[in-house]
Amino acid sequence: KVIEHIEKANGRPLFSFEILPPLKGQNIQSIFDGIDPLMEFKPPFIDVTYHREEYEYKEHGNGLLEKKIVKKRPGTVGICAAIQNRYQVDAIPHILCGGFTKEDTENFLIDLDFLGIENVVALRGDAVKSEIYFKPEREGHSYASELVSQIQNLNNGIYLDEDLQNTTKTNFCIGVAAYPEKHMEAPSMESDIRFLKQKIENGANYIVTQMFFDNQKYFDFVAKCRASGITVPIFPGLKPIATKKQLNLIPHRFKVDLPDDLILEVQKAKDNEAVNEIGVEWCLQQSKELVAAGVPILHYYSMGKAANIKKVASAIF
Ligand code: FAD
Repeated sequence: KVIEHIEKANGRPLFSFEILPPLKGQNIQSIFDGIDPLMEFKPPFIDVTYHREEYEYKEHGNGLLEKKIVKKRPGTVGICAAIQNRYQVDAIPHILCGGFTKEDTENFLIDLDFLGIENVVALRGDAVKSEIYFKPEREGHSYASELVSQIQNLNNGIYLDEDLQNTTKTNFCIGVAAYPEKHMEAPSMESDIRFLKQKIENGANYIVTQMFFDNQKYFDFVAKCRASGITVPIFPGLKPIATKKQLNLIPHRFKVDLPDDLILEVQKAKDNEAVNEIGVEWCLQQSKELVAAGVPILHYYSMGKAANIKKVASAIF
């Protein structure tokens, strides 16, 4: 379990990373190619994101719209099983409220339990592209805190069906997400932290943050969490900038700010090779400062691309 890995490390910082399942049609080798170069840093676990279905509308000549459900990145559970099998490290699937009924969730968790997967990250998920606000399934959860409760219930042998109570118990260690720059929908940081605390009270064991590029934001956020009574580990999420395009993409997609010094350096870079170097150096300085501050783990968003993360990790681990 993640928490046991942290305890065993006894204050030594650990290395972990997150990958995405490949686009449908690609081979699992593309996943291994993104993991192999990072194994020398001995990650105790690897996170695998979950991608819900999206809706696409196809227009027919007669003016009618056909709604098509497409799942572009299936395979989260299969990839987790393959990782555990190939590398003998713990794979952590992300699990969403979006697109899942409570029954789907229960069955998903049973699958994970049968595969020997004992860690999950419980998330709400975002609104599908065609909608502005997140909409839960009719029999699903509206917030990650409710999903955490369901997982914790199953850990206590509480199933949805009353006839099954206290049959087999699962034993999941539960991670949840948090946002050092506030979740985009939260009316204030204080409100966001109150709901984060709810996730911990419902049974979550640790927190992973959204990526940030200014460590002070992380330090301030952790201080606020501690002041509110949250005591679980808070893992910093890091990503080296790799392209000029990401200057606009990252703030738009993840609702985080980039420091002006970093923006200016990237804007001055002559090509993406130079941007890569700037991104690696920035991420390395962040990593060093976080290690000096005593964080239990550095969690990198590799997005399946190992080269930059490897450069950063080589200088730290
Ligand atoms: P929640 O904790 O449910 O919070 C969502 C919003 O609701 C917040 O603004 C919160 O303040 C508010 N809120 C919470 N509870 C209540 C309540 N009871 N009443 C009113 N307001 C409330 N997305 C994916 O699709 N797949 C992934 O694999 C994935 N992995 C991620 C990993 C990390 C580390 C992070 C940081 C994000 C990840 N995401 C992923 C994105 C995530 O799904 C979105 O950021 C989503 O918008 C919020 O998810 P959450 O679990 O933080 O939601």
